[in-house]
Amino acid sequence: MLRTAIERPDLISAECVETGENPELADKYDAQSVPLTVTNETFRQKGLLPEERFVLEMVYLKHAEQLLEEMQKNDPDMVPEVAGLAMAEGLTPAGEFDVVVAGAGPAGLTAAIYAERSGLKTLVLEKGVVGGQVILTPEVENYPGFKTVGGVQLMEMIASQARDYCEIHEGEGLDEIKIGKKIEVITAKGRYLAKSLVLATGASAKLLGVPGEAQLFGRGVSVCASCDGWAYKGKQVIMVGGGNTALTEALHLKNMDVGVTLVHRRDEFRAEKHLQNGIKKAGIEVIWDCGVEEFLGDETGLKGVRLKNLKTGELSELKVDGAFLAIGWNPNTEIPQQVGVTLDQWGYIKVDRNMRTNIPRIYACGDVIGGVQQIATAVGEGSTAALAVFEDISNPYWTKAE
Ligand code: NDP
Repeated sequence: MLRTAIERPDLISAECVETGENPELADKYDAQSVPLTVTNETFRQKGLLPEERFVLEMVYLKHAEQLLEEMQKNDPDMVPEVAGLAMAEGLTPAGEFDVVVAGAGPAGLTAAIYAERSGLKTLVLEKGVVGGQVILTPEVENYPGFKTVGGVQLMEMIASQARDYCEIHEGEGLDEIKIGKKIEVITAKGRYLAKSLVLATGASAKLLGVPGEAQLFGRGVSVCASCDGWAYKGKQVIMVGGGNTALTEALHLKNMDVGVTLVHRRDEFRAEKHLQNGIKKAGIEVIWDCGVEEFLGDETGLKGVRLKNLKTGELSELKVDGAFLAIGWNPNTEIPQQVGVTLDQWGYIKVDRNMRTNIPRIYACGDVIGGVQQIATAVGEGSTAALAVFEDISNPYWTKAE
């Protein structure tokens, strides 16, 4: 708008007004945190209005959607170059989005909230169910604003906020990405065109890859104590791992009256001190320096595990009804890798401080970029990614570099 005002002062005069300094105007137009465009005293647009679209609407004095409809009907009065420009740059017809967000964990949902609030038409695609890994966490005690909140409850709140803004398609993961003038996102259920793609695809639980694991998975071997733990009340299980997840989940199992023993491959935990204290206080037994060599069982389920002391090489068997694995995560990067998104040495997507990947118009945030992988950081990264999308759509950095 400002550029048009400078180049065509005969057509338009424009003024940027700071709401804090002009409370009456802010009040009059109900302007809040998102940029608002008012022309001739009439509300026009909340959030980003792409430059091309603005120019088109000014030239034709019609709403972009109306113009598009006319183009689609092959309106003979429509100038072909302008129609082409509008189709390519300025408008977002049905089935096309400014942003497609892949993944509906805390990072993806926050990106979606911020993107829509910036005026960007957003679609969230989620391979599984909304909530990401957080819904596997029984109690979250380090998300600011909540002394303690259930993982499921927290994610339901974030998802409900996101649903107020945009569509979320559950059970629809990325199958393929094609990069052209627009980014084409292909799933088993549809094909979407977007100006930008935010990857918030998270990470999947690592497995040990030892005999018996695949056969007994879901029949005693599990990666989710908060989902499956209730079935082991009064029974004996092991929890493999020494990080925050393993200790949190072991405490959770103990609280549910499950007899739990931690099995860790070293002689010290990497988990936070307060969790280590909690384990001691709860009297949870720890088998140090041991790895699982084999899961033992039959078609009725898991019966025990064969352990190996990694210092002495000694083998032993332990009778258990369940075995939970909490040994970390593998970032979900298979599809982005196919289009050349660069990964770091640990296999996470490499991003700059604005969550931009090496490919213009593709951003990443949350567990898929590694780092400390906290809910609080995922939320920060999601908002940063959406703000970068907003900035880049209106002011593409890649065209400046050319
Ligand atoms: P981590 O990577 O922190 O820990 C994995 C654990 O599994 C380590 O103790 C590791 O051992 C062990 N391990 C890895 N591979 C194997 C293997 N092949 N065999 C046996 N043991 C193995 O994963 P977490 O899931 O615990 O945590 C991931 C991230 O999420 C962390 O940053 C954590 O802080 C965070 N988190 C945050 C929470 C929250 O915000 N409330 C809750 C839970 C996790 P070793 O120590 O020897 O490497």
